[in-house]
Amino acid sequence: MAECERFKTCPFFNDQLSYMPRTADAMKQKYCYGDKSQCARYLVVIQGITAPGDLFPNHLDRARGILANAKKRRPLEPTKSDKARGVGAP
Ligand code: SF4
Repeated sequence: MAECERFKTCPFFNDQLSYMPRTADAMKQKYCYGDKSQCARYLVVIQGITAPGDLFPNHLDRARGILANAKKRRPLEPTKSDKARGVGAP
């Protein structure tokens, strides 16, 4: 597989987090050079959310929580009745 396209700017990949786990190199092999679609940081960042500094690629459950919370806070798409009432119209 190709390396993750975010590697140039990724603080984890570039050892720029305040704490780097001893398993960082193994994680880079698994996620950055392997399957980015399973990387917690990747999943968060591609949704336009800044990944916390202590979020490591193997923290998938935490990433899912971050994404679920972000979804709750984002405005929902207007429903048909909203549109009929002019709510959410551009
Ligand atoms: S796979 Fe994850 S940790 Fe690796 S470069 Fe991409 S976003 Fe960063």
